[in-house]
Amino acid sequence: MAHIIAVTNQKGGVGKTTTSINLSACLADNGKRTLLIDMDPQGNATSGLGIDKENLEGNLYDCLIEHVPFAQVVQKTAVKKLSLMPATMDVAGAAVELVTLEHREQVLKQALQAYLDSVKKPYDFVLIDCPPSLGLLTINALVAADQVLIPVQCEFYALEGLAQLMQTVEMVRSSMNEQLRLLGLVLTMFDGRTNLSLQVAEEVKKYFSGQVFHTLIPRNVRLGEAPSHGEPITIYDSHSRGADVYRKLAREVIRRVG
Ligand code: ADP
Ligand code: MG
Repeated sequence: MAHIIAVTNQKGGVGKTTTSINLSACLADNGKRTLLIDMDPQGNATSGLGIDKENLEGNLYDCLIEHVPFAQVVQKTAVKKLSLMPATMDVAGAAVELVTLEHREQVLKQALQAYLDSVKKPYDFVLIDCPPSLGLLTINALVAADQVLIPVQCEFYALEGLAQLMQTVEMVRSSMNEQLRLLGLVLTMFDGRTNLSLQVAEEVKKYFSGQVFHTLIPRNVRLGEAPSHGEPITIYDSHSRGADVYRKLAREVIRRVG
């Protein structure tokens, strides 16, 4: 059965999409069949993997609202074994339209499970790149997932919002998805030359002892550049520090999920 991981933090700009794209690519490079679901109407994971949002047959909106099967919309990417469910601004409309549906929190779960049950070659991993809010799209991701991965940016307000996020995870776990558990927190944009980064890393490790990934994601220029070329870091600059750390994170994730 596929491990389904929601990559989430209601703060914007903390490295959710960078982690979703590059972790997915590295899992695929490790031979794991991987699906990345872009759940953010901004569609940054979609464009970051070089998929042209103007020329899509469909996107996540069609699957959530129009009952189009995932199989008709999921795209291949330049990375072998990595597929993508693309998002466009349409997905913002899905967030609104979902409100009126009866099983509004379960829509992604049902559509995804039908797809996972139907594919000939099973997936090993599904990653869900969440939008920067705790709204219905993120709730759908948490209901569909079995694990949560939280990128935390090494900056002053890093811990702010994490309590609320953990409460939301707990609410979903206790009321809608018993098996949901925290896979771990990933410290991102770490800069070992600054006391601030070191302090934040210490503080997060203190609050979430044992739940922080050993792999620290440094601030790395090549990681910031790769999305504008529509490539994961492993293609854009395979020898960069950024590529190395995401390969390391992928190995840690594979070990953690057992
Ligand atoms: P989110 O999805 O949480 O909003 P992103 O992954 O889009 O965050 O990251 C926000 C911005 O920071 C983007 O411009 C991205 O390219 C850049 N960025 C993310 N991680 C790194 C990193 N480790 N080093 C340098 N730039 C990064
Ligand atoms: Mg994002």
